[in-house]
Amino acid sequence: MQYLSALSYSRQRLTINYKCIQYTVLSSYWGIEFDTSMAKNSKIEWTHHTFNPWWGCERVSPACKHCYAETWARRLGLDLWSKGAPRRMLSSAYWRQPLAWDREAREAGVRSRVFCASMADVFESRSDLNPVREQLWETISSTPNLDWLLLTKRPQHVSQLVPWGQQWPHNVWLGTTVETQRWADRRAPLLLEHAAVVRFVSCEPLLGPIDLTPWLNPSKNSFGINWVIVGGESGHRARPMNPVWARHLRDQCEAYDVGFHFKQWGNWSPSDGLPNGHRTRILNGGTALAVSMTNVGKKESGRKLDGYEWNGLPLDHGDLMEA
Ligand code: SF4
Repeated sequence: MQYLSALSYSRQRLTINYKCIQYTVLSSYWGIEFDTSMAKNSKIEWTHHTFNPWWGCERVSPACKHCYAETWARRLGLDLWSKGAPRRMLSSAYWRQPLAWDREAREAGVRSRVFCASMADVFESRSDLNPVREQLWETISSTPNLDWLLLTKRPQHVSQLVPWGQQWPHNVWLGTTVETQRWADRRAPLLLEHAAVVRFVSCEPLLGPIDLTPWLNPSKNSFGINWVIVGGESGHRARPMNPVWARHLRDQCEAYDVGFHFKQWGNWSPSDGLPNGHRTRILNGGTALAVSMTNVGKKESGRKLDGYEWNGLPLDHGDLMEA
């Protein structure tokens, strides 16, 4: 249905939806499928499971301003968000879950993705976390049917903290958050130092326009970025994401054959077609680029950009290596 609807949309959208088919074919190589029958215990659209080696962190950049993990922990009465605060460790039963997911994936013949971590940053540099990190590396090694997505805002610590050097395991994808151009300039080059099989960026919450093209072009980077996730902020203090920023990133991914995933608008959605009665904000007011955004809440705003869901996954790593 999605492919047919693209036929009547535009040539550009045709290409994208052809790529969706291509993703499905290439996903056989990766063992990834768009199979919704796969057990899923995470609400995050781009993963099947979420795993936290510990809880707790410290804010490092503007993306952390409304850290939902900190809010959630405080709601539970846990004080885990500062340099000196303790971290919350998880039970042995919790650590056995990935082994069960791995068995399930092997029996189903379909790989599962595990997002690590939603309540911490795996590359927070504290010596008391080193034993837990060791346990994480062992768990990753024991679960070859799972793809582990390590997403960090601290890519500068990766080299010191992983045991793999330039021989990364086949089941680890490395990602970094880039919320503005400043943070893209700082973190993307650090991400690309590592030979992870997939290198991805999460532009969530997207807080400004970003040009990723210096790092998307495989002819310039044999280890270029091969997956981009974009999303707006949720929560009652959310900052609106200008649709122009999201479209620009989608178009960059399209131009460089990079998987593009539009995760959500967050609380604020473009106002077109929405009923009155919600809070509205004009971005770029008084200019030709003015855009009206309405705070309708995450559920109502949905995850369609220009009428479509964008669920791209990384393309075949081999293509980049040949460049
Ligand atoms: S790095 Fe992640 S978990 Fe840590 S404070 Fe920032 S948003 Fe929260």
